[in-house]
Amino acid sequence: MPYEQERASRIGHVQTALSPAISEAMERWQTPALEVGDPAHITERLTSLDSLNRDDRPDPTFAIAFDGSNQEVEARPGYPSVRVGYIQIAGVYVDILKFLGANSSGLVNARQLERAQITQTVNSVLPGSNVFLKGVTGRDSWRAEFDRSFTESEITDFGNSFSLTDALMTIHGKPGAPASSLTLSKCPACGASAQRVTASGGVCATPDCMEKLYPTDVLRGYEEFTEDGENALTLTRAMNMAERLLLISYIDGFYRVEPRMLSQGIFITDGPLAVYGPAAPMKSKFLEYWTQLCVAMDRRDIAPPLLVGIEKSGRFADHARVIERHIPNGHVMMLDTPYINRYVTNQKPDHYYGKDEFYGRRFIYKTSTGESLVVTVPRVPGGHPYEKPRRDSAGDFIEVPSEKYESYPTLRVTLEALDLMQTQLYPNAVIPVALAHSASSLPLGTGRSVLTLLAQRSLRMPQDSVGLSRFKPPKYR
Ligand SMILES: [Zn+2]
Repeated sequence: MPYEQERASRIGHVQTALSPAISEAMERWQTPALEVGDPAHITERLTSLDSLNRDDRPDPTFAIAFDGSNQEVEARPGYPSVRVGYIQIAGVYVDILKFLGANSSGLVNARQLERAQITQTVNSVLPGSNVFLKGVTGRDSWRAEFDRSFTESEITDFGNSFSLTDALMTIHGKPGAPASSLTLSKCPACGASAQRVTASGGVCATPDCMEKLYPTDVLRGYEEFTEDGENALTLTRAMNMAERLLLISYIDGFYRVEPRMLSQGIFITDGPLAVYGPAAPMKSKFLEYWTQLCVAMDRRDIAPPLLVGIEKSGRFADHARVIERHIPNGHVMMLDTPYINRYVTNQKPDHYYGKDEFYGRRFIYKTSTGESLVVTVPRVPGGHPYEKPRRDSAGDFIEVPSEKYESYPTLRVTLEALDLMQTQLYPNAVIPVALAHSASSLPLGTGRSVLTLLAQRSLRMPQDSVGLSRFKPPKYR
């Protein structure tokens, strides 16, 4: 990673594009097509939303959308390798009925929208390169501070305070019951396998090691930490986990306090329902938590919550833009694995796409007003959203359970709700996501120097600044 960046900074972009070596290579290489010839491979995968089954549930009355932003700043002039990372994540609660009132004219009334939403933000500061806790290496400083930021980031909307660490323990336990301990696949210091830690940490069992261990070590963010250089990727991964665990904090809060309310909520994350990088094994924990939640709610005869990830960028969002003119409004497209391998990711036909990262499956939906949404939705009552492609005796691909609409009974209501909450103001986005995006945005431009100033100040007074604004709980009924 750092090598690529170094090279990029030495060659200017303009010169690079003009380089004969590059134009020569581009003639040899293929890139994703920008035109679709015969669209039969698209149209045969389309289904009108109206024809899908609608599971038995009340209409959603509220949405909570989550988003985050992060930035790494150089904290000391003349010593640019001293870096500090900032993360801000936000959850925005939107009262859908009030929102629809604000949206009645087709235009959004900002004041009414303001009344329909409640915002919660969580901020953390993480050390970057050349920032240390006393007597501790850079990597171990990062581990300690990451753990601290999870412990100190808490919500109090459901009575007792509930931290991101509690959410992490909960996905290792079950709904309403955080695990008392979790197992690290290895000790970050000596590599010894299967180390048990509680929410407050632990110590490596290897006598020669005795390293202090943290529950957040299970996310293995430290593996990508760079002692000398930028840590943009490490910071993004940390932010993504914080976002997803903040969502779990809310789902689990409703489950503990008022499970019936869960059925009336739509929970929206920015990006797919997936975990990338060293933390990818966590996708199994999200999947297990989700399955147990569905089963527990079904036992009480309550529909599961609506859970959806929306992607605004990336190769699937790009692909959706290329093919969207072949999708009629109000239609959803099943992206089966052979299609993904052939048309999106350029993999071999039998490649097992999505095996390691996903706890929801992607669909493309064209809204009633012609915007394309790329969404991921989990299976109900659980199960892997992607399976290895299978062929029949004639060698043709067969439809696997994860590629049947019956496996996604929440899909129709989810897409109907997103359709209601889209807006002309933000193309290919829905209002709660746009609100969460702006609530979580760190100040850019001039704000960068504000962050630098903060970093410098906090370096002189080495305390981390986890801030939490008050959040009023949604009113039940
Ligand atoms: Zn150890």
